[in-house]
Amino acid sequence: MSNTDLLQRSLNAVWHPCTQMKQHAAGGLPLIPIASGKGVWLHDFDGRRYLDAVSSWWVNLFGHCNPRINAALREQLEELEHVILAGFTHRPVVELSERLSQLTGGALGHCFYASDGASATEIALKMSFHSWRNRGRAAKQDFLCLEGSYHGETVGALAVTDVAIFKDAYAPLIRAAATVPSPDARNARDGETPADVARRAAAVLERHLEQHHQHIAALIVEPLIQCASGMAMYDPEYLRLARTLCDRFEVHLICDEIAVGCGRTGTFFAHEQATTDGQPIKPDFLCLSKGISGGYLPLSIVLTTDAVYGTFYDDATSRGFLHSHSYTGNALACRAALATLDIFAQDKVLEANRTLAAKLGSTFAPLADHPQVRHLRQRGMILAFDVDTADADFSRRFYRAALDREALIRPIGNTVYVMPPYIINDEEIAHLGRATSGALAEALAQPN
Ligand SMILES: *Cc1c(COP(=O)(O)O)cnc(C)c1O
Repeated sequence: MSNTDLLQRSLNAVWHPCTQMKQHAAGGLPLIPIASGKGVWLHDFDGRRYLDAVSSWWVNLFGHCNPRINAALREQLEELEHVILAGFTHRPVVELSERLSQLTGGALGHCFYASDGASATEIALKMSFHSWRNRGRAAKQDFLCLEGSYHGETVGALAVTDVAIFKDAYAPLIRAAATVPSPDARNARDGETPADVARRAAAVLERHLEQHHQHIAALIVEPLIQCASGMAMYDPEYLRLARTLCDRFEVHLICDEIAVGCGRTGTFFAHEQATTDGQPIKPDFLCLSKGISGGYLPLSIVLTTDAVYGTFYDDATSRGFLHSHSYTGNALACRAALATLDIFAQDKVLEANRTLAAKLGSTFAPLADHPQVRHLRQRGMILAFDVDTADADFSRRFYRAALDREALIRPIGNTVYVMPPYIINDEEIAHLGRATSGALAEALAQPN
């Protein structure tokens, strides 16, 4: 097998995601066949390697072909690969539900399963609406999201996603939710702190809820970082205020931690960084996916409170939550998640990540002096900066220049970010730093 052989066959047979396929055919955008992965490295068939600085679309936490997750999956393969979860249950799904609930301090006592993030979003929206209806509040049919929000790309999830390039073509199909301003710290006016921006955004949220709360079922947010619209980071104060306002106006708070959960921001769940009286705020719904299975298998989970669960618990079948997916609670995926949680506990990962995040920060700090770099920012294991250039082709130029330097870094528009697996070592961080500054210089160089 060679790179060119597989590349051609892929272009003939595979419709790649999030891609205008003609760009591959024209040779403008490389398509890279991967033969194997080990740790942070991806290897092609021709002996080239790439440091996976985006954790393969934010899913991989502990490296490719992780020996401990591999071993757990081999064991599970010999016991049970999958069983229908309606009317049946199994050990991995029970243990995972118990452990996730414990991680919320028992606040969210029930777990509902699906396979991808967008489905988790849809489940949370449906559950919220249906829960209000079961309580006799059928008028609560609307949802509220933040400007620049991303919660997935199925038709239902697009209703609460505010990214034009994913949404505009399908606008006639979508029952779009209202948006309120993002607390993005980059919106700070002169003299404002990130917490000030958060309070200003929350004031608009308050006015919106005052007017419309009778019709709003839930507010959905990506806690601390709006990743897909360009790593917009914001102060935890916004979450604290949003929780208070949702309580006051009887609106559910959905925390979509599909990208920011599982230790990315420094705490296991990002919303834990918002506290009242020293206690983390509690969402009504928590969506997990991406990193929860260590980047191995499709798995998503919606956790909710026993109070919400209780609104469905009834003699009438129709008051139940009758949603299902064929692979709901897949045993292999749950086992991968359990192995992932084991690594968190055994290796004290949250603590170790503090050192790693500091190293990442100091390696990239010199970029702040670059004349075209704006808003160099970091929270935990996500570091990002914006590049001041009018070049519409910047992101592709940068992407190619990074690949030439053995790094997989995929900017979002003019925002360059790294979000590496948690097993990256000092030498690999240094490699990433060099690849980033080299690729930046090349991408910004004016072609003669
Ligand atoms: C990736 C993502 C989703 C969608 O997950 P998929 O598995 O790609 O459907 C939803 N919400 C957030 C915050 C995400 O980052």
